[in-house]
Amino acid sequence: MHENYINGEWVGASEVNRNLNPSDTRDVVGEYARGDDAQARQAIDAASDALETWVTWTSEARADALDRIGDRILADKQQLGELLAREEGKPLTEAVGEVTRAGRVFKFFAGEAIRFGGEFLPSVRPGVSVEVSREPVGVVGVITPWNFPIAIPAWKIAPALAYGNSVVFKPADLVPGCAWALASIIDEVGGLPKGVFNLVMGPGSKVGNALVSSPRVNAITFTGSSETGRRIAAECAVRGAKFQLEMGGKNPLVVLDDADLELAVSTAINGAFFSTGQRCTSSSRLIVEKGIHDSFVKRMREATQALKVGNALHPDTQIGPVASQAQLDQDLSYIEGAKRSGCRLEAGGERLSLEAPGYYLTPALFSQTRNDMPINREEVFGPVATVIQAEDYEHALALANDTIYGLSSGICTQSLARATHFKRHSGAGMVMVNLPTAGVDYHVPFGGRKGSSYGPREQGSYAKEFFTNVKTSYTLAQGV
Ligand code: NDP
Repeated sequence: MHENYINGEWVGASEVNRNLNPSDTRDVVGEYARGDDAQARQAIDAASDALETWVTWTSEARADALDRIGDRILADKQQLGELLAREEGKPLTEAVGEVTRAGRVFKFFAGEAIRFGGEFLPSVRPGVSVEVSREPVGVVGVITPWNFPIAIPAWKIAPALAYGNSVVFKPADLVPGCAWALASIIDEVGGLPKGVFNLVMGPGSKVGNALVSSPRVNAITFTGSSETGRRIAAECAVRGAKFQLEMGGKNPLVVLDDADLELAVSTAINGAFFSTGQRCTSSSRLIVEKGIHDSFVKRMREATQALKVGNALHPDTQIGPVASQAQLDQDLSYIEGAKRSGCRLEAGGERLSLEAPGYYLTPALFSQTRNDMPINREEVFGPVATVIQAEDYEHALALANDTIYGLSSGICTQSLARATHFKRHSGAGMVMVNLPTAGVDYHVPFGGRKGSSYGPREQGSYAKEFFTNVKTSYTLAQGV
Protein backbone atom coordinates (compact mmCIF):
# COMPACT_ATOMS: atom_id res chain seq x y z
CA MET A 1 0.00 0.00 0.00
CA HIS A 2 1.17 3.57 -0.79
CA GLU A 3 1.19 5.24 2.61
CA ASN A 4 0.60 8.73 3.95
CA TYR A 5 3.60 10.93 4.72
CA ILE A 6 3.48 12.47 8.16
CA ASN A 7 6.37 14.10 10.03
CA GLY A 8 8.89 12.66 7.58
CA GLU A 9 7.63 9.07 7.97
CA TRP A 10 5.48 6.85 5.76
CA VAL A 11 2.40 5.82 7.72
CA GLY A 12 -0.28 3.27 6.76
CA ALA A 13 -4.01 3.61 7.31
CA SER A 14 -6.73 1.14 8.20
CA GLU A 15 -8.66 1.83 4.98
CA VAL A 16 -7.40 1.20 1.46
CA ASN A 17 -8.30 3.23 -1.62
CA ARG A 18 -8.09 1.22 -4.87
CA ASN A 19 -7.16 3.68 -7.58
CA LEU A 20 -8.82 2.60 -10.85
CA ASN A 21 -7.88 3.58 -14.39
CA PRO A 22 -10.89 5.33 -16.03
CA SER A 23 -9.68 4.16 -19.47
CA ASP A 24 -9.87 0.53 -18.30
CA THR A 25 -11.49 -0.05 -14.94
CA ARG A 26 -9.95 -3.55 -14.74
CA ASP A 27 -6.58 -1.86 -14.29
CA VAL A 28 -5.81 -1.03 -10.65
CA VAL A 29 -3.28 1.82 -10.69
CA GLY A 30 -2.38 1.09 -7.08
CA GLU A 31 -3.61 0.78 -3.51
CA TYR A 32 -3.36 3.92 -1.42
CA ALA A 33 -3.88 4.70 2.25
CA ARG A 34 -7.20 6.33 3.05
CA GLY A 35 -6.48 8.35 6.16
CA ASP A 36 -8.90 9.91 8.60
CA ASP A 37 -9.28 12.95 10.82
CA ALA A 38 -6.94 11.52 13.48
CA GLN A 39 -4.14 11.23 10.91
CA ALA A 40 -4.90 14.71 9.64
CA ARG A 41 -4.50 16.04 13.19
CA GLN A 42 -1.12 14.26 13.54
CA ALA A 43 0.03 15.90 10.31
CA ILE A 44 -1.22 19.31 11.45
CA ASP A 45 0.70 18.97 14.73
CA ALA A 46 3.84 17.93 12.84
CA ALA A 47 3.50 20.87 10.43
CA SER A 48 2.96 23.28 13.29
CA ASP A 49 5.93 21.97 15.30
CA ALA A 50 8.18 22.08 12.20
CA LEU A 51 7.78 25.83 11.74
CA GLU A 52 10.35 26.62 14.42
CA THR A 53 13.11 24.83 12.48
CA TRP A 54 11.84 25.81 9.05
CA VAL A 55 12.09 29.56 9.74
CA THR A 56 15.82 29.15 10.45
CA TRP A 57 16.42 28.03 6.86
CA THR A 58 17.83 30.68 4.57
CA SER A 59 15.87 31.66 1.49
CA GLU A 60 18.67 30.15 -0.59
CA ALA A 61 18.33 26.79 1.12
CA ARG A 62 14.57 26.84 0.49
CA ALA A 63 15.22 27.80 -3.13
CA ASP A 64 17.66 24.92 -3.59
CA ALA A 65 15.17 22.44 -2.14
CA LEU A 66 12.41 23.60 -4.52
CA ASP A 67 14.82 23.55 -7.44
CA ARG A 68 15.81 19.94 -6.69
CA ILE A 69 12.14 18.94 -6.53
CA GLY A 70 11.43 20.71 -9.84
CA ASP A 71 14.42 19.05 -11.49
CA ARG A 72 13.30 15.60 -10.39
CA ILE A 73 9.73 16.14 -11.60
CA LEU A 74 11.08 17.19 -15.00
CA ALA A 75 13.49 14.26 -15.14
CA ASP A 76 10.63 11.83 -14.38
CA LYS A 77 8.03 13.55 -16.56
CA GLN A 78 7.38 10.63 -18.89
CA GLN A 79 6.81 8.15 -16.08
CA LEU A 80 4.75 10.64 -14.05
CA GLY A 81 2.76 11.54 -17.18
CA GLU A 82 1.90 7.87 -17.67
CA LEU A 83 0.74 7.63 -14.07
CA LEU A 84 -1.39 10.76 -14.50
CA ALA A 85 -2.91 9.48 -17.75
CA ARG A 86 -3.65 6.15 -16.09
CA GLU A 87 -5.32 7.51 -12.98
CA GLU A 88 -7.15 10.58 -14.35
CA GLY A 89 -7.62 9.73 -18.04
CA LYS A 90 -5.86 12.74 -19.58
CA PRO A 91 -4.28 11.79 -22.92
CA LEU A 92 -0.58 11.08 -22.51
CA THR A 93 0.72 14.18 -24.31
CA GLU A 94 -1.46 16.45 -22.19
CA ALA A 95 -0.53 14.48 -19.07
CA VAL A 96 3.21 14.89 -19.73
CA GLY A 97 2.51 18.58 -20.39
CA GLU A 98 0.83 18.89 -17.00
CA VAL A 99 3.78 17.22 -15.27
CA THR A 100 6.19 19.54 -17.07
CA ARG A 101 4.19 22.49 -15.84
CA ALA A 102 4.39 21.15 -12.26
CA GLY A 103 8.19 20.89 -12.54
CA ARG A 104 8.43 24.42 -13.95
CA VAL A 105 6.23 25.74 -11.15
CA PHE A 106 8.64 24.38 -8.51
CA LYS A 107 11.58 25.94 -10.33
CA PHE A 108 9.78 29.29 -10.68
CA PHE A 109 9.05 29.38 -6.94
CA ALA A 110 12.65 28.38 -6.18
CA GLY A 111 13.53 31.77 -7.67
CA GLU A 112 10.69 33.49 -5.83
CA ALA A 113 12.01 32.23 -2.48
CA ILE A 114 15.00 34.51 -3.02
CA ARG A 115 13.43 37.31 -5.06
CA PHE A 116 10.52 38.30 -2.88
CA GLY A 117 11.17 41.23 -0.61
CA GLY A 118 9.51 44.03 1.25
CA GLU A 119 9.54 47.81 1.21
CA PHE A 120 11.43 50.48 3.10
CA LEU A 121 9.77 53.88 3.30
CA PRO A 122 10.35 57.17 5.07
CA SER A 123 7.79 57.82 7.79
CA VAL A 124 5.73 60.99 7.93
CA ARG A 125 7.36 61.53 11.34
CA PRO A 126 10.90 62.90 11.66
CA GLY A 127 13.70 60.36 12.23
CA VAL A 128 11.35 57.43 11.79
CA SER A 129 11.54 54.82 9.04
CA VAL A 130 9.03 52.18 8.05
CA GLU A 131 9.65 48.63 6.87
CA VAL A 132 6.96 46.54 5.25
CA SER A 133 8.04 42.92 5.41
CA ARG A 134 6.44 39.59 4.58
CA GLU A 135 6.32 36.62 6.93
CA PRO A 136 5.05 33.06 6.46
CA VAL A 137 1.39 32.53 7.33
CA GLY A 138 2.20 29.29 9.21
CA VAL A 139 0.55 25.94 8.53
CA VAL A 140 -1.19 25.81 5.15
CA GLY A 141 -3.85 23.20 4.34
CA VAL A 142 -3.77 22.35 0.63
CA ILE A 143 -7.01 20.79 -0.69
CA THR A 144 -7.05 19.88 -4.36
CA PRO A 145 -9.47 18.44 -6.96
CA TRP A 146 -9.02 15.49 -9.31
CA ASN A 147 -8.81 17.25 -12.67
CA PHE A 148 -5.18 18.44 -12.49
CA PRO A 149 -3.69 15.91 -10.05
CA ILE A 150 -0.11 17.22 -10.16
CA ALA A 151 -0.20 20.80 -11.51
CA ILE A 152 -2.71 22.18 -9.00
CA PRO A 153 -0.93 20.61 -5.99
CA ALA A 154 2.36 22.00 -7.38
CA TRP A 155 1.07 25.54 -7.76
CA LYS A 156 -0.17 25.52 -4.16
CA ILE A 157 2.62 23.55 -2.41
CA ALA A 158 5.58 25.24 -4.15
CA PRO A 159 4.66 28.83 -3.15
CA ALA A 160 3.61 27.71 0.33
CA LEU A 161 7.11 26.27 0.88
CA ALA A 162 8.92 29.07 -0.99
CA TYR A 163 7.52 31.69 1.38
CA GLY A 164 8.38 29.62 4.46
CA ASN A 165 5.12 27.89 5.37
CA SER A 166 4.62 24.26 6.30
CA VAL A 167 2.07 22.15 4.43
CA VAL A 168 -0.54 19.47 4.99
CA PHE A 169 -1.64 18.29 1.56
CA LYS A 170 -4.98 16.52 1.03
CA PRO A 171 -5.46 15.44 -2.60
CA ALA A 172 -8.77 14.36 -4.14
CA ASP A 173 -9.69 10.82 -3.17
CA LEU A 174 -10.07 9.92 -6.87
CA VAL A 175 -6.43 10.62 -7.78
CA PRO A 176 -4.03 9.71 -4.96
CA GLY A 177 -1.34 8.40 -7.35
CA CYS A 178 0.21 11.67 -8.54
CA ALA A 179 -0.07 13.12 -5.04
CA TRP A 180 1.83 10.19 -3.59
CA ALA A 181 4.46 10.36 -6.35
CA LEU A 182 4.96 14.07 -5.65
CA ALA A 183 5.29 13.40 -1.92
CA SER A 184 7.83 10.69 -2.58
CA ILE A 185 9.92 13.10 -4.72
CA ILE A 186 9.74 15.74 -1.97
CA ASP A 187 10.83 13.07 0.54
CA GLU A 188 13.71 11.83 -1.62
CA VAL A 189 15.24 15.05 -2.89
CA GLY A 190 13.68 17.90 -0.89
CA GLY A 191 15.76 17.39 2.23
CA LEU A 192 13.17 19.41 4.17
CA PRO A 193 12.99 19.32 7.97
CA LYS A 194 10.58 16.65 9.24
CA GLY A 195 6.98 17.84 9.28
CA VAL A 196 7.42 20.75 6.86
CA PHE A 197 5.58 18.81 4.18
CA ASN A 198 2.91 16.19 4.93
CA LEU A 199 0.58 14.17 2.71
CA VAL A 200 -2.71 12.86 4.11
CA MET A 201 -4.80 11.02 1.54
CA GLY A 202 -8.39 10.42 2.56
CA PRO A 203 -11.93 11.71 2.13
CA GLY A 204 -12.82 15.38 2.20
CA SER A 205 -15.46 14.75 4.85
CA LYS A 206 -12.75 13.56 7.27
CA VAL A 207 -9.26 14.74 6.27
CA GLY A 208 -10.43 17.89 4.47
CA ASN A 209 -12.80 18.80 7.24
CA ALA A 210 -10.12 18.28 9.92
CA LEU A 211 -7.84 20.73 8.07
CA VAL A 212 -10.54 23.34 7.65
CA SER A 213 -11.68 23.21 11.27
CA SER A 214 -8.31 22.95 13.03
CA PRO A 215 -7.22 26.09 14.90
CA ARG A 216 -3.61 25.09 14.16
CA VAL A 217 -4.12 25.47 10.38
CA ASN A 218 -3.57 29.13 9.55
CA ALA A 219 -4.64 29.10 5.91
CA ILE A 220 -6.55 26.91 3.46
CA THR A 221 -5.92 26.98 -0.27
CA PHE A 222 -8.69 25.13 -2.11
CA THR A 223 -9.65 24.27 -5.70
CA GLY A 224 -12.82 22.33 -6.43
CA SER A 225 -16.57 22.70 -6.55
CA SER A 226 -18.43 25.86 -5.56
CA GLU A 227 -20.44 23.93 -2.97
CA THR A 228 -17.39 22.70 -1.05
CA GLY A 229 -15.73 26.10 -1.50
CA ARG A 230 -18.66 27.88 0.14
CA ARG A 231 -18.57 25.47 3.08
CA ILE A 232 -14.84 26.02 3.56
CA ALA A 233 -15.29 29.80 3.33
CA ALA A 234 -17.93 29.81 6.05
CA GLU A 235 -15.83 27.74 8.44
CA CYS A 236 -12.60 29.67 7.83
CA ALA A 237 -14.33 33.05 8.17
CA VAL A 238 -15.76 32.08 11.54
CA ARG A 239 -12.42 30.99 12.99
CA GLY A 240 -10.44 33.78 11.29
CA ALA A 241 -8.24 31.60 9.07
CA LYS A 242 -7.02 32.86 5.72
CA PHE A 243 -8.60 31.15 2.72
CA GLN A 244 -8.31 31.16 -1.03
CA LEU A 245 -10.85 29.45 -3.29
CA GLU A 246 -10.75 28.51 -6.98
CA MET A 247 -14.07 27.09 -8.05
CA GLY A 248 -16.15 26.67 -11.16
CA GLY A 249 -16.48 28.41 -14.49
CA LYS A 250 -18.96 28.75 -17.35
CA ASN A 251 -16.46 30.30 -19.68
CA PRO A 252 -17.60 32.04 -22.86
CA LEU A 253 -15.71 32.00 -26.14
CA VAL A 254 -17.07 34.74 -28.41
CA VAL A 255 -16.66 34.24 -32.18
CA LEU A 256 -17.24 37.38 -34.24
CA ASP A 257 -18.13 37.57 -37.92
CA ASP A 258 -14.63 38.77 -38.82
CA ALA A 259 -12.88 35.83 -37.09
CA ASP A 260 -10.59 33.48 -38.96
CA LEU A 261 -12.99 30.53 -39.17
CA GLU A 262 -10.38 27.76 -39.01
CA LEU A 263 -8.61 29.40 -36.06
CA ALA A 264 -11.94 29.92 -34.29
CA VAL A 265 -12.88 26.25 -34.75
CA SER A 266 -9.54 24.89 -33.54
CA THR A 267 -9.63 27.32 -30.59
CA ALA A 268 -13.13 26.18 -29.66
CA ILE A 269 -12.31 22.48 -30.05
CA ASN A 270 -9.26 22.80 -27.82
CA GLY A 271 -11.01 24.98 -25.23
CA ALA A 272 -14.19 22.95 -25.07
CA PHE A 273 -13.05 19.35 -25.36
CA PHE A 274 -9.37 18.87 -24.54
CA SER A 275 -8.79 17.31 -21.11
CA THR A 276 -12.28 15.86 -21.75
CA GLY A 277 -13.72 19.30 -20.94
CA GLN A 278 -12.78 18.72 -17.31
CA ARG A 279 -11.11 22.08 -16.81
CA CYS A 280 -12.48 24.96 -14.77
CA THR A 281 -11.32 27.16 -17.68
CA SER A 282 -12.96 25.14 -20.46
CA SER A 283 -14.90 27.00 -23.18
CA SER A 284 -18.33 25.60 -22.43
CA ARG A 285 -20.35 28.44 -24.03
CA LEU A 286 -19.55 29.31 -27.66
CA ILE A 287 -21.21 32.66 -28.36
CA VAL A 288 -21.28 33.16 -32.11
CA GLU A 289 -22.25 36.25 -34.10
CA LYS A 290 -25.05 35.54 -36.58
CA GLY A 291 -23.09 36.19 -39.81
CA ILE A 292 -20.59 33.40 -39.11
CA HIS A 293 -22.96 31.23 -37.06
CA ASP A 294 -23.98 28.63 -39.64
CA SER A 295 -20.54 28.09 -41.13
CA PHE A 296 -19.02 27.91 -37.62
CA VAL A 297 -21.57 25.31 -36.47
CA LYS A 298 -20.98 23.22 -39.62
CA ARG A 299 -17.19 23.24 -39.20
CA MET A 300 -17.49 22.60 -35.45
CA ARG A 301 -19.77 19.63 -36.09
CA GLU A 302 -17.25 18.11 -38.51
CA ALA A 303 -14.30 18.80 -36.21
CA THR A 304 -16.13 17.42 -33.14
CA GLN A 305 -17.13 14.25 -34.97
CA ALA A 306 -13.53 13.75 -36.11
CA LEU A 307 -12.11 13.76 -32.56
CA LYS A 308 -10.63 10.41 -31.57
CA VAL A 309 -11.93 9.23 -28.20
CA GLY A 310 -9.97 6.44 -26.57
CA ASN A 311 -7.62 5.07 -23.97
CA ALA A 312 -5.54 7.90 -22.51
CA LEU A 313 -2.33 5.93 -23.04
CA HIS A 314 -2.88 5.32 -26.77
CA PRO A 315 -0.82 7.69 -28.89
CA ASP A 316 -3.63 8.59 -31.31
CA THR A 317 -6.18 9.43 -28.57
CA GLN A 318 -7.27 13.07 -28.54
CA ILE A 319 -10.04 12.81 -25.94
CA GLY A 320 -9.62 10.47 -22.99
CA PRO A 321 -12.39 9.01 -20.82
CA VAL A 322 -14.38 10.97 -18.27
CA ALA A 323 -12.62 10.66 -14.91
CA SER A 324 -15.24 8.70 -12.96
CA GLN A 325 -18.67 7.11 -13.07
CA ALA A 326 -20.07 9.97 -10.97
CA GLN A 327 -18.77 12.57 -13.42
CA LEU A 328 -20.04 10.54 -16.38
CA ASP A 329 -23.52 10.39 -14.81
CA GLN A 330 -23.43 14.16 -14.29
CA ASP A 331 -22.40 14.77 -17.93
CA LEU A 332 -25.09 12.44 -19.31
CA SER A 333 -27.76 14.02 -17.18
CA TYR A 334 -26.90 17.51 -18.51
CA ILE A 335 -26.90 16.13 -22.07
CA GLU A 336 -30.37 14.61 -21.57
CA GLY A 337 -31.59 17.86 -19.99
CA ALA A 338 -30.37 19.90 -22.97
CA LYS A 339 -32.07 17.53 -25.41
CA ARG A 340 -35.31 17.77 -23.44
CA SER A 341 -35.19 21.57 -23.51
CA GLY A 342 -35.07 21.54 -27.31
CA CYS A 343 -31.37 22.16 -27.94
CA ARG A 344 -30.12 20.60 -31.15
CA LEU A 345 -27.46 17.93 -30.71
CA GLU A 346 -25.02 18.54 -33.55
CA ALA A 347 -22.50 15.86 -32.59
CA GLY A 348 -21.60 13.27 -29.95
CA GLY A 349 -23.08 13.07 -26.47
CA GLU A 350 -23.11 9.28 -26.55
CA ARG A 351 -21.75 6.71 -24.19
CA LEU A 352 -19.06 4.82 -26.08
CA SER A 353 -18.20 1.17 -25.52
CA LEU A 354 -14.64 0.32 -26.44
CA GLU A 355 -12.71 -2.89 -26.00
CA ALA A 356 -11.70 -1.99 -22.46
CA PRO A 357 -14.37 -0.99 -19.93
CA GLY A 358 -13.96 2.75 -19.36
CA TYR A 359 -16.00 5.93 -18.92
CA TYR A 360 -16.01 6.94 -22.58
CA LEU A 361 -18.24 9.69 -23.87
CA THR A 362 -18.17 11.28 -27.33
CA PRO A 363 -17.79 15.09 -27.12
CA ALA A 364 -21.21 16.73 -27.30
CA LEU A 365 -21.94 19.87 -29.31
CA PHE A 366 -25.33 21.59 -29.00
CA SER A 367 -26.67 24.44 -31.11
CA GLN A 368 -29.90 26.43 -30.77
CA THR A 369 -29.37 26.97 -27.07
CA ARG A 370 -30.32 29.96 -24.93
CA ASN A 371 -28.15 31.48 -22.26
CA ASP A 372 -30.86 31.04 -19.60
CA MET A 373 -30.95 27.23 -19.95
CA PRO A 374 -29.37 25.10 -17.17
CA ILE A 375 -26.79 23.78 -19.69
CA ASN A 376 -25.57 27.37 -20.05
CA ARG A 377 -25.93 28.40 -16.40
CA GLU A 378 -24.36 25.45 -14.54
CA GLU A 379 -20.89 23.93 -14.77
CA VAL A 380 -21.10 20.51 -16.46
CA PHE A 381 -17.38 19.71 -16.17
CA GLY A 382 -17.35 17.34 -19.11
CA PRO A 383 -16.91 17.28 -22.91
CA VAL A 384 -20.06 19.29 -23.55
CA ALA A 385 -20.20 22.62 -25.41
CA THR A 386 -23.09 24.76 -26.56
CA VAL A 387 -23.49 27.36 -29.27
CA ILE A 388 -25.48 30.51 -28.47
CA GLN A 389 -26.22 32.83 -31.39
CA ALA A 390 -25.60 36.55 -30.86
CA GLU A 391 -27.05 39.42 -32.89
CA ASP A 392 -23.88 41.52 -32.84
CA TYR A 393 -20.76 42.20 -30.75
CA GLU A 394 -22.60 44.11 -27.99
CA HIS A 395 -25.09 41.27 -27.62
CA ALA A 396 -22.24 38.72 -27.54
CA LEU A 397 -20.46 40.67 -24.80
CA ALA A 398 -23.64 40.91 -22.75
CA LEU A 399 -24.22 37.15 -23.08
CA ALA A 400 -20.60 36.42 -22.19
CA ASN A 401 -20.92 38.41 -18.95
CA ASP A 402 -24.36 37.06 -18.08
CA THR A 403 -23.19 34.31 -15.73
CA ILE A 404 -22.59 33.86 -12.02
CA TYR A 405 -19.03 32.83 -12.87
CA GLY A 406 -16.06 34.90 -14.05
CA LEU A 407 -12.98 32.75 -14.44
CA SER A 408 -11.87 32.95 -18.07
CA SER A 409 -13.28 34.32 -21.33
CA GLY A 410 -12.17 34.50 -24.93
CA ILE A 411 -12.83 36.22 -28.22
CA CYS A 412 -11.95 35.27 -31.80
CA THR A 413 -11.73 38.36 -33.96
CA GLN A 414 -9.34 40.12 -36.31
CA SER A 415 -10.40 43.55 -35.04
CA LEU A 416 -7.98 45.17 -32.62
CA ALA A 417 -10.72 47.56 -31.50
CA ARG A 418 -13.13 44.72 -30.62
CA ALA A 419 -10.38 42.69 -28.93
CA THR A 420 -9.34 45.69 -26.85
CA HIS A 421 -12.93 46.51 -25.92
CA PHE A 422 -13.55 42.88 -24.92
CA LYS A 423 -10.41 42.74 -22.76
CA ARG A 424 -11.60 45.84 -20.90
CA HIS A 425 -15.25 44.88 -20.49
CA SER A 426 -15.17 41.11 -19.95
CA GLY A 427 -16.26 40.17 -16.44
CA ALA A 428 -13.68 37.37 -16.20
CA GLY A 429 -10.39 37.31 -14.33
CA MET A 430 -8.53 36.03 -17.42
CA VAL A 431 -9.20 37.04 -21.03
CA MET A 432 -7.90 35.39 -24.20
CA VAL A 433 -7.81 36.82 -27.70
CA ASN A 434 -7.73 34.23 -30.50
CA LEU A 435 -6.74 31.63 -27.89
CA PRO A 436 -8.68 28.94 -26.01
CA THR A 437 -10.08 30.01 -22.63
CA ALA A 438 -8.01 27.20 -21.09
CA GLY A 439 -4.22 27.02 -21.14
CA VAL A 440 -2.36 29.55 -19.03
CA ASP A 441 1.23 30.40 -18.12
CA TYR A 442 2.61 29.61 -14.67
CA HIS A 443 4.48 32.88 -14.03
CA VAL A 444 1.45 35.20 -14.11
CA PRO A 445 -1.64 35.40 -11.89
CA PHE A 446 -4.39 32.81 -12.28
CA GLY A 447 -7.90 33.38 -11.00
CA GLY A 448 -11.38 34.67 -11.56
CA ARG A 449 -14.13 36.91 -10.32
CA LYS A 450 -17.71 36.55 -9.07
CA GLY A 451 -18.58 32.94 -8.15
CA SER A 452 -15.36 31.51 -9.61
CA SER A 453 -12.75 32.63 -7.13
CA TYR A 454 -12.26 34.18 -3.75
CA GLY A 455 -9.13 35.65 -2.24
CA PRO A 456 -5.76 36.63 -3.67
CA ARG A 457 -4.61 35.24 -7.01
CA GLU A 458 -2.65 32.01 -7.39
CA GLN A 459 0.62 31.60 -9.33
CA GLY A 460 3.37 33.95 -10.36
CA SER A 461 4.76 36.43 -7.85
CA TYR A 462 1.13 37.35 -6.94
CA ALA A 463 1.01 34.10 -4.96
CA LYS A 464 2.83 35.82 -2.11
CA GLU A 465 -0.31 37.83 -1.30
CA PHE A 466 -1.90 34.66 0.02
CA PHE A 467 1.11 32.75 1.29
CA THR A 468 2.60 35.58 3.37
CA ASN A 469 1.38 37.97 6.03
CA VAL A 470 2.48 41.57 5.83
CA LYS A 471 4.11 43.24 8.83
CA THR A 472 4.73 47.00 9.14
CA SER A 473 7.62 47.94 11.49
CA TYR A 474 8.53 51.50 12.60
CA THR A 475 12.00 52.50 13.84
CA LEU A 476 13.14 55.72 15.45
CA ALA A 477 16.86 55.85 14.81
CA GLN A 478 18.63 57.47 17.76
CA GLY A 479 21.83 59.47 17.41
CA VAL A 480 21.84 59.73 13.63
P1 NDP B 1 -15.15 18.76 -4.48
O1 NDP B 1 -15.28 20.21 -4.24
O2 NDP B 1 -16.10 17.87 -3.81
O3 NDP B 1 -13.68 18.27 -4.11
C1 NDP B 1 -12.52 19.06 -4.18
C2 NDP B 1 -11.62 18.72 -2.99
O4 NDP B 1 -12.28 19.10 -1.78
C3 NDP B 1 -11.34 17.23 -2.86
O5 NDP B 1 -10.04 17.02 -2.36
C4 NDP B 1 -12.40 16.80 -1.86
O6 NDP B 1 -12.10 15.60 -1.21
C5 NDP B 1 -12.35 17.97 -0.90
N1 NDP B 1 -13.53 18.07 -0.04
C6 NDP B 1 -14.77 17.57 -0.26
N2 NDP B 1 -15.57 17.86 0.79
C7 NDP B 1 -14.84 18.55 1.68
C8 NDP B 1 -15.10 19.13 2.96
N3 NDP B 1 -16.29 19.06 3.54
N4 NDP B 1 -14.10 19.78 3.60
C9 NDP B 1 -12.89 19.88 3.03
N5 NDP B 1 -12.56 19.33 1.84
C10 NDP B 1 -13.53 18.69 1.15
O7 NDP B 1 -15.19 18.52 -6.01
P2 NDP B 1 -15.20 17.09 -6.74
O8 NDP B 1 -13.79 16.71 -6.96
O9 NDP B 1 -16.04 16.09 -6.07
O10 NDP B 1 -15.91 17.50 -8.07
C11 NDP B 1 -17.29 17.81 -8.06
C12 NDP B 1 -17.60 18.88 -9.05
O11 NDP B 1 -16.81 20.05 -8.74
C13 NDP B 1 -17.19 18.55 -10.45
O12 NDP B 1 -18.15 17.82 -11.10
C14 NDP B 1 -16.99 19.91 -11.04
O13 NDP B 1 -18.22 20.45 -11.43
C15 NDP B 1 -16.46 20.72 -9.91
N6 NDP B 1 -15.00 20.84 -9.93
C16 NDP B 1 -14.48 22.02 -10.29
C17 NDP B 1 -13.12 22.16 -10.37
C18 NDP B 1 -12.54 23.42 -10.78
O14 NDP B 1 -11.32 23.52 -10.90
N7 NDP B 1 -13.34 24.42 -11.03
C19 NDP B 1 -12.21 21.09 -10.08
C20 NDP B 1 -12.86 19.88 -9.67
C21 NDP B 1 -14.20 19.80 -9.60
P3 NDP B 1 -12.65 14.20 -1.85
O15 NDP B 1 -11.91 14.00 -3.09
O16 NDP B 1 -12.33 13.21 -0.84
O17 NDP B 1 -14.11 14.40 -2.09
